Amino acid sequence: MLTQIINGKILTPQGWLNDGSIVIEDSKIRDVLNNNRPIAGADKIIDAKGAYVVPGAIDIHVHGGGGRDFMETTEEAFLEAIAAHRRHGTTAIAPTLSSSTNKMIDDAAATCDRLMADPENGIIGLHLEGPYFNPKKAGAQMPEIIRAINPDEYRDLVERHNSIRRWDAAPELAGSEEFGQYLRSKGVVASLGHTAATPEDVDRAYKSGFNHATHFYNAMTQYHKEGIYSHAGTVEAVYDNDGITVEVIGDGIHVPIRALRMAYKFKGVERMAFITDALAVAASDSTKAFDERVTIENGVCILSDHSAIAGSIATMDRVIKVAVTQAGIPLEDAARMASETPAKIMGVYDRKGSIERGKDADIIFFDKDINLTGVIQMGREIETA
Ligand SMILES: [Zn+2]
Repeated sequence: MLTQIINGKILTPQGWLNDGSIVIEDSKIRDVLNNNRPIAGADKIIDAKGAYVVPGAIDIHVHGGGGRDFMETTEEAFLEAIAAHRRHGTTAIAPTLSSSTNKMIDDAAATCDRLMADPENGIIGLHLEGPYFNPKKAGAQMPEIIRAINPDEYRDLVERHNSIRRWDAAPELAGSEEFGQYLRSKGVVASLGHTAATPEDVDRAYKSGFNHATHFYNAMTQYHKEGIYSHAGTVEAVYDNDGITVEVIGDGIHVPIRALRMAYKFKGVERMAFITDALAVAASDSTKAFDERVTIENGVCILSDHSAIAGSIATMDRVIKVAVTQAGIPLEDAARMASETPAKIMGVYDRKGSIERGKDADIIFFDKDINLTGVIQMGREIETA
């Protein structure tokens, strides 16, 4: 199957290519041409009609969608949630589990191992958000499941499950250095989160292998006063370390626009990824949360007792639109932070995260108002939501 996309403004690693075209052969990009001439033997021509054509979004922190949660652990739940987000422009995904029991992690990872074997599913790894967190920074994580770092547990899970590619923990906990070193030795991304880490904890964590920060700004400490002295928090320590990448929930609510712009200016496109952190209720028609501890207000999920934000109902198309229309970030930078940077963080930039020859044909289209108008995932045209 040979498909050619013509008449788009194509975002390539070299910048915008106007009046160019993309040739897709089956699931791969065969060529990016600097002209719109139909190639010989094309089975299908897609006319982008002047739309922005950018790499498909890669969401590396997302709990579910379309009414399904990855903690359900079944293939059906995984595939439905992934499909729901795909209709919103997410062409590759790292399904996220909140702090879970060992059994639940084991079951979900077994499902993810199987589904990851088929590249068409677009899964780039399972993301474990917990359970080794600081109970004081639990947020929406279930406090009764948060526990001490357990080497027997994490070694066993990582050894048995190829799909586990990212694991978040609070680096002030005992055993975090060994944990970071172990994850790094296995090629698993170690990310710091739900934490009250001091700058010294962050430095130590970085040396041991932690090089990413989970939903930056959320569930971590910031500049504050203790007694008569001021202290830098986790946020400032992460800002101050060029080796640590960040991910920002880009719904315009979890992180205020000014703070989002600060991360963009200070960390920059190469070190900042956009995420949704979306719950099951995202990308669905429901206006009610599925977990009775959570309610939806103002386009975001909050704990029913109003003590904390509990996760988002964002989708990656909305995130890109918020970045461009509310934060004033150029589309080329917003799109890269939604594709290239997360691909690099997860170690899949060799096959995803940009529109260039040989990569997976994961491509999305936006109109001039930054509304999603088309999705191609692994060369297949997907109906948009
Ligand atoms: Zn999360």
